[in-house]
Amino acid sequence: MWNYSNAPRCTVCAHRAIVTKHQAQRLVNSSGGRLVAYQCPIELSSWHVWAPEFERGGGSASR
Ligand SMILES: [Zn+2]
Repeated sequence: MWNYSNAPRCTVCAHRAIVTKHQAQRLVNSSGGRLVAYQCPIELSSWHVWAPEFERGGGSASR
């Protein structure tokens, strides 16, 4: 079974995990909107997910 932590990393995108569009969408859905999916600018078949709230510096948690 696919595992996020075992996913290959993208060297041009700060070593984010490379996932398929489908996997990215599932992660976004299961995160309740905390994760955002975006297409890799280099490898167009690759997608990444990230958490803006989480990564944009912890200090002020709005909400
Ligand atoms: Zn990338």
